[in-house]
Order: sequence, then structure tokens, then C-alpha cells
Amino acid sequence: MSKLTRRCPRCGRADVDFVGPLCRDCYREVYGLARLPGRVDYVYCGVCGSYKLQGGWNQPAGELEESLYEYLTLLLTQKVKPTEYVEEAWIEGVELLQPFHGTGLHQVKVKVGARAGGSTIYDEVVIEVNAKPGVCPLCTAKATARGYEAIVQIRSSEGRLSPELKRSIESFLRRLDKRLSDAVVKVEERREGIDLLVYDHASARMIASKIRSAFMGKTVETYKLIGRKPDGSRKGRLTVAVRIPDIQPGELVEVGGRPTLYLARARGGGLFVDLKTGREILISADELWERGFRKLGEPAEVRRVMLLSRNGPTTVFLDSESGYTRVIELSSRDVRVYVDDFREGEEYLAYMAGRRIYIIRKAVTSQEG
Ligand SMILES: [Zn+2]
Ligand SMILES: [Zn+2]
Repeated sequence: MSKLTRRCPRCGRADVDFVGPLCRDCYREVYGLARLPGRVDYVYCGVCGSYKLQGGWNQPAGELEESLYEYLTLLLTQKVKPTEYVEEAWIEGVELLQPFHGTGLHQVKVKVGARAGGSTIYDEVVIEVNAKPGVCPLCTAKATARGYEAIVQIRSSEGRLSPELKRSIESFLRRLDKRLSDAVVKVEERREGIDLLVYDHASARMIASKIRSAFMGKTVETYKLIGRKPDGSRKGRLTVAVRIPDIQPGELVEVGGRPTLYLARARGGGLFVDLKTGREILISADELWERGFRKLGEPAEVRRVMLLSRNGPTTVFLDSESGYTRVIELSSRDVRVYVDDFREGEEYLAYMAGRRIYIIRKAVTSQEG
């Protein structure tokens, strides 16, 4: 018997591709390319749109419909089983037959791809999806401010966060990755600083480490057992304290006993001027904490001066504190300017060290407060 005369026992056609005992079309009609569950549940959070998969919760993929498609693709890819004469089957795509309407049954068209007898064939199957809205554990924790497993305590080296530092921390927190900021169950303002109640340990450590590297901070972890989980495992609350040096660019800081001018935050630390040598130095956060530091306030060397002229090799100031009578004339080489806007007629706070003068910030006029 020749292959050419092989006919499909169901439809009688010859010259067709066969899958197992039948022609391709008959095989698809009779057996289908793959077995899929006829109905699946879809449990999703009505608040944030995340969905349940294998005991855990996945972040939403976008709109509720997109999350449903992502869920079905993940779930059905695991469940799809090729029928007897099909070598491999997979999910090509899913599509709701009517718009997503929340609770209840939905019909979804599933496009199945398969490889059989050396060629690729497709089929469409309609399954039912039973949507059940709920509230995910993270949204529950947020609603009740309970159920968090970690606290990130943000404190300053000075005991209390200064208003400037507080503002820059708040703006930093607003710019956190969504995945991390979503894990913050609650932000509590305290007299000593800011507490973040965080859903899980990993997110708390990540947030604390981001704050530490952005603000030259230091972290200390403590762990407290608070009970047992329903499965009997230990349940603990992690506290990560982040201490931040309360210093602002333009302030004088003693680091390891040496007077410095703090210029700016820099990668992993800060840029300082050693006022004894006049050199700019990069001090890492670890070094800063190791050597010890304290704010110098405004020592006697800080004077209020007015810039008179800066022509060529000499720069001339008037000493404001002497009633603008004393003239300070310096070699321009010895004038180190750390303000953006250095103009004649304006007043500045300056640190005097020997023959050098460091212009550290613009003086606040009395009208401005
Ligand atoms: Zn046939
Ligand atoms: Zn949720």
C-alpha cells in the first residue's frame, strides 16, 4: 500500500497531512491538540489588582484585563497537556470574549499552538474563568497598619532630623521604586525621626540600604521574636535603624578632629575640603562614621564679608562685621569659592584659614530672616 493512497478514515480525504490515525483537521476536531481545564478560578485584589498564583500574590501587570491575561498565560502554560499524537503544545494567546466585569464567570478564548507530525498547527478553545475579588495581604496590612514585619527607623546623628534633612529624605522616599514604596505599609512621623512600617524583611533592608548610600548613613539591625506563624515557624520583627549625619553642604564639620567644609554628597560618601591643607577630599560614609564627626557650628573663623572686586590677581573684600571699614585684600589664588553665584556687592559667609579664604555660602540678609 502506498502512502499516496492513504485516506482519512473519517472524512475520506487523501493528500492531507495526518496526525496519528486521522487527517489533521479531523484529529483537531475529534481529539483536540491539547487538554486544558474547562474552568479556572481567578482570585485578584480589588484594591491593587495583584492576583493569586500558586499560593503567592503577583504584582498587577497593568489594567485588570492585562493581569488576567498574564495570569491565564502563566497558569495554562503549566496545565496544557498535548493529546496523544501531538508532540508539544503551548499557549499562543488568550482573549476575553466580553469585557472584564469583575466578580463571576467570563469566557476566554485560548489560542493553542502545537507541533505534530513535523508541522505546527493551531486551535482555539473556549474556557471559563471564575473571577473572585479579594484583598491581598499587603493591602490588608496597609488598611490596618498591622501585619508588617519590619520597621525602618530614620534618625539623624544630632538626635532629631533637621527640617532640611527631613525634606530631602521625604523627597528621596517619594522617588523610591514602586515595588519598594508599595511595601511601605505606613509612614509614621515621630519626634526623633521617621519610621517606615514595611511589609517584609527584604524590602526593609533594601530601603534602608538605599537611604544609607544616598545620605552617608549607617545601619544597625535588631530582630525581635514576636510569636509564631500559623504553620509553627517563628515570626520576628526586624528593625533597621538608619542614622544619617545631619550635615548640609556649606557647613563646617570636624572629621576625625580636623576642620573641614562639607561641599556635596558624592558617590558613597561626601566631598569635603580639609581646611588645614586646602585639599578637597572624598570621605566615604564608613570612614566618616569611623573617624567620628561633629558639626562645628559657626566658629570665630567664619566671617561675613562683602565682595568688592575680583579683578586679576587680587580679590578685595570688606569685613561686614567691622562695620565695613576693614579691607581684606588677598591673592585670587587663595580665594576658594564654593557658591554658585559669586558677585561683587554681595555678602557671603567665609571661613578664614591663614591667608586663605573659603567662600562657603551666601549670607542671608536680615529681611530674608
Ligand atoms: Zn479527516
Ligand atoms: Zn492588594
